[in-house]
Amino acid sequence: MEYLPMFMNLRGKRALVVGGGVIASRKATLLASCGAEIRVVSPDISNAMTRWAQDANATIVQRAYQDADLDGAVLVIAATDDASVNRQVHDDACRRNLPVNVADQTDLCTFILPAIVDRSPVIVAVSTGGRSPVLARFTKAMLERLVPQALGSLAQFCGRWRDAFKRRIADESMRRRAWETFFESEVPELIYAGNRSEAENRVNEIIEQANYPQAKKGAVYLIGAGPGDPELMTLRGQRLLQRADVVLYDRLVPIDVLQLCRREAELIYVGKRHGDHPVPQDEITQQLIDYALEGKRVARLKGGDPFVFGRGGEEIEALAGHGIDFEVVPGISAANGCAAYSGIPLTHRDHAQGFSCWTGHLKNGALDLDWEHIAGSRQTQVFFMGLRAAETISRELIGHGLPATTPVALVAAGTTRQQQVWRCSLKGLPAEARKRFSDMPTLIIVGTVVNLRRSLSWFQGSDSPSPVFPRHSAANERAVVADAR
Ligand code: SAH
Repeated sequence: MEYLPMFMNLRGKRALVVGGGVIASRKATLLASCGAEIRVVSPDISNAMTRWAQDANATIVQRAYQDADLDGAVLVIAATDDASVNRQVHDDACRRNLPVNVADQTDLCTFILPAIVDRSPVIVAVSTGGRSPVLARFTKAMLERLVPQALGSLAQFCGRWRDAFKRRIADESMRRRAWETFFESEVPELIYAGNRSEAENRVNEIIEQANYPQAKKGAVYLIGAGPGDPELMTLRGQRLLQRADVVLYDRLVPIDVLQLCRREAELIYVGKRHGDHPVPQDEITQQLIDYALEGKRVARLKGGDPFVFGRGGEEIEALAGHGIDFEVVPGISAANGCAAYSGIPLTHRDHAQGFSCWTGHLKNGALDLDWEHIAGSRQTQVFFMGLRAAETISRELIGHGLPATTPVALVAAGTTRQQQVWRCSLKGLPAEARKRFSDMPTLIIVGTVVNLRRSLSWFQGSDSPSPVFPRHSAANERAVVADAR
């Protein structure tokens, strides 16, 4: 290692910042956030620095830097635009054995400032040894996605319980095991969800049962996987998926999302196809209940959002009935995903004052919607599962007053690398739907907002032939899942 990472306690200590510009004020802000007493020396002080210093109660000395400014300081940062001043500060500090950092000049630094992921009191610091601040920033961004926002609360919580663990679990190795149980339990999740009282109950249980193997309590996470692009899944969804022992997933859960499951997790396909229901809904629900009662953590992954045409509500009703813990993680629905990735805003001041989502799923061959209301509102209309009902949609909307020329978009496999968008008129919709009928999930968007796509289209898929959604059949189920991992 070129540099030793350290965390320095600056509370109440003096730090000197030489320079009065933007970079100096940024560094001063960082030091002040750790409780340092800041002294800024510079003949020119920017407005930003003046304002900041007033708020932060920092001392500003408006004159040229001199050696005596280092008196009483525990570290110094130079960020002036005068190379000779920067070097002078460096030389003076080194003579006094004071740690010094000169902005953007690694050769004049005895310490460098890392990129920081701040979940105080948990801090993750990233350094590239001064080689690439942008790479440090990118690495920080990756970590920001991985580290739960509430990790700091978890650390605070652990800190408060440390003495109790020591007092109540005398044996050191038992204590370590109890902490492991703690981190593998649902306690971190309870704390992230702000449920402190339940978390404390669970910790008390963990401590009491530290000497006995304890029956685990199961839970179900109903997680929206988003419409296709795996980057559209929420951070919370990803984190809960990592914890799952068993994952029950639908046909519209992108294979790339399945890759985020733990390797040890058991993946179970419970997808349905039109007119072909391999796993009836009550059986899926029963599986969720059984696994949870066995003490497993079960992720129920659904395409898009679980509460949008996803029967998520029915599943958790049953779980609630059995007293099983559950959480629901929203996902980006196909309506939002397809709109964004096809350049069709769902609302627009000149076109549509709102948008509505409808199921196009036929019941006994018919689609019973309030067509008069739909056709009469100045809204964008979004139809899920609508390809088979295209004829009805077109006929009813035109019959209830929408112009036959109203533009329509069919978005297939939206947000995935295989996304395709076709445009037609409301009158031409049945023919277009027949032509485009496929295995791919397809969304129908009706309204003049579709015309905006001409100038707002931005997303280009790729020609990668690898499947985006699991192609279920009894024969290839295992293969697809194995591929996915
Ligand atoms: N819960 C899901 C919807 C499930 S209903 C959500 O919130 O998006 C299934 C229908 O959703 C499909 O028939 C199709 O109309 C639509 N759909 C889902 N994913 C899609 C995608 N990637 N592209 C286009 N349409 C999609």
